[in-house]
Amino acid sequence: MKPGITLPRHGRIPSSNLGWSIIKMENCIFCKIIKEEIPAEKIYEDDSTLAFLDISPVNKGHALVIPKEHHETITEIPEELLKNTISTVQKIAKAVENISDGINIMQNNKEIAGQVVPHVHFHIIPRLKDDGFKLNWRHTEYQKNEIKEFSKKIKSFL
Ligand code: AMP
Ligand code: ZN
Repeated sequence: MKPGITLPRHGRIPSSNLGWSIIKMENCIFCKIIKEEIPAEKIYEDDSTLAFLDISPVNKGHALVIPKEHHETITEIPEELLKNTISTVQKIAKAVENISDGINIMQNNKEIAGQVVPHVHFHIIPRLKDDGFKLNWRHTEYQKNEIKEFSKKIKSFL
């Protein structure tokens, strides 16, 4: 018998990572754009990456860059593919620079961090003088020695 769990109405849910990633890919809106199952305003494409305009932009010209292979977050994507994706981010930023006064590059990982589409993507947001968009950055403080503790913790995983 194949591994996995049978659920009513859902059929067989695979237990392997490959099975789950196929299910996620099939439901992924960005994978549907890659497969041209839904339309998008594409601005650039190469063998491994795609750039298109965000349907609901912060400012007009707001672009998204994605790898053509489905990975959810920046920590899950293979390094070579991430390098290609970042190269495309720079290419698009250089183009967007010509229609803006500045650029924000944003990249959200996991729902808690604002990721709505679980396919790794970079936002290239053209910024214009007086565009009224404010990043709601807040600033907290370290207590005594805390900065050293955080540095030690993070370094222990490198
Ligand atoms: P995030 O919150 O970082 O996951 O961003 C997802 C972005 O994808 C949002 O800015 C959406 O406006 C954008 N988006 C969602 N669906 C589409 C689509 N079909 N075409 C273009 N952009 C999309
Ligand atoms: Zn996907």
